[in-house]
Amino acid sequence: MRLAQSSTATALAAAAAVSAASSSYDTCCARLAAALGDDIVTTTPFAETDYFSIQESSLVPACIVRPRSAQHVSKAVTILTTSRVPGCQFAVKGGGHTPAGGSANIQGGVTIDMKFLNATVLSEDKTSVAVGAGAVWNDVYGYLGDFNLAAAGGRNGGVGVGGLLLGGGISHFSPRVGWACDTVVEYEIVLANGTLVTVSGTSYPDLYRALKGGGNNFGVVTRYTLTAFPQGNMSVNTISYDVSQIGAVFDAFTDIAASPNFDPYVSLQTDLLYVPAAKAWSVTSSASYTKPVLHPEVFSGLEAVPSISNTSEITAVAALAAENPTPPLNWLFATLTFGTSSETMLGIFNALNGSLYDFNPAGGVTWSFAFEPLPSVMLSHSAATGGNVLGLEPEDGNGVILLVVHALTIYLPMGLTLTPTVLLVSALWPNSSSNDSVYRKGRDTFAAIKAVAERKGMLRKFEYLNYAGPHQAPLASYGTDNLDYLRKVSKKYDPTGVFQRKVPGGFKLW
Ligand SMILES: Cc1cc2nc3c(=O)[nH]c(=O)nc-3n(C[C@H](O)[C@H](O)[C@H](O)COP(=O)(O)OP(=O)(O)OC[C@H]3O[C@@H](n4cnc5c(N)ncnc54)[C@H](O)[C@@H]3O)c2cc1C
Repeated sequence: MRLAQSSTATALAAAAAVSAASSSYDTCCARLAAALGDDIVTTTPFAETDYFSIQESSLVPACIVRPRSAQHVSKAVTILTTSRVPGCQFAVKGGGHTPAGGSANIQGGVTIDMKFLNATVLSEDKTSVAVGAGAVWNDVYGYLGDFNLAAAGGRNGGVGVGGLLLGGGISHFSPRVGWACDTVVEYEIVLANGTLVTVSGTSYPDLYRALKGGGNNFGVVTRYTLTAFPQGNMSVNTISYDVSQIGAVFDAFTDIAASPNFDPYVSLQTDLLYVPAAKAWSVTSSASYTKPVLHPEVFSGLEAVPSISNTSEITAVAALAAENPTPPLNWLFATLTFGTSSETMLGIFNALNGSLYDFNPAGGVTWSFAFEPLPSVMLSHSAATGGNVLGLEPEDGNGVILLVVHALTIYLPMGLTLTPTVLLVSALWPNSSSNDSVYRKGRDTFAAIKAVAERKGMLRKFEYLNYAGPHQAPLASYGTDNLDYLRKVSKKYDPTGVFQRKVPGGFKLW
């Protein structure tokens, strides 16, 4: 994805802040440029627009490092971590899709942008694929599709391989192969002291497990080797409903998600969209099936609910993942997990409606809520592949559901009328003045829906890191044993906590 240029005013203000930054960054950047060359290190501050959110693209680092090899990454990390110059904090950018500001970018610091490390190479026996950590999922699906293969990754092709795999990774194929991180055979990673190591089930096995959910707390991954599996075309049904059908849609969703024989070819998401300016809710189910079968029986309940539209197609994985360019927007993510229950979903909807109905900040906001099954069949794969640290077991029960809350602040010229359909493609007025009120409303609304799930006895502790908001603590949600384990592994490979102190972005262990 390429985002349009962020506003000149924002960039100039940020650049002015950079010019006042301490000279320690000038020294770090000069050392990096001397060691790696001007074609790898850009020392003229500028706003990188290649991020999903305005909160990220409006940050201006003192310099940007764009390594072309793992050795470049190793050199950069060595300079940044062993340099006696104080400060020199840095950020690591994969596909740039985490919305929270400072996750993969850093105001006045050093950003290592992995985007040129994006090679994909299939093994001779065609059972695995080595993927540069700066690739996005489009790169992987396009490449593997030519061999009638796929790997487990983001459903949206603009998402980065780098970040998705470190946080877990929900893919269309997850019921068949597990979390995307469960399919990583090998990591090539630069550790805090600059050494480049290969990590697998037999080499650094403790780090191997920690990387499966531990985020960016252990090093800079330069390459992932992923299991590749046969995959042809798949089908997708997109069904839109009037909000009056919401109870029936939740019932049909729950029948699928709660089934003790969850069909492993199912990839389902039910989305609610709310536009306060129009006081309009819309309800859509994206019902994908990872076989080329139109209208599979498993979706008959969802299709039986009276709909506004129902389209279906057989498509290649790469074509389905191809992401439409998104205009610059402010985004807020948050997530919670709860046991499968149509009644809880309805309670959550009522709480959302109560909280958001009249909230319409200057410039407008759109809210989006995605329900996804987290079936126990998906959780059953990790044990066979070295385990992960997410703290979820198949015995926890089938049909746990993730609720993703996205708030996207959309600025519309005054007087423009809205329908939910045009909303995401409308011309925008990128002005961040409503951020604070949206954040506040987001936190209040989140607390309200969490309370609903708790009251109904359905709340689960797990908060999925890749969907979590800045106010959440996903690593702690893995449970005390897993958190202690992650801290122990971090102390072993990064005793001074470089990836916490010097890399402030992302969810931290300390
Ligand atoms: C439109 C959209 C669709 C999405 N779809 C899915 C989906 O289908 N399934 C799913 O599970 N999630 C999905 N997500 C969530 C996504 O997994 C997370 O946002 C993820 O962190 C994005 O990874 P990235 O590399 O693009 O992000 P970045 O923002 O670049 O990185 C995310 C974090 O990972 C760290 N990081 C990245 N690369 C490296 C590296 N090589 N070494 C060390 N640290 C690194 C960064 O420092 C940062 O903290 C989606 C998000 C969006 C915005």
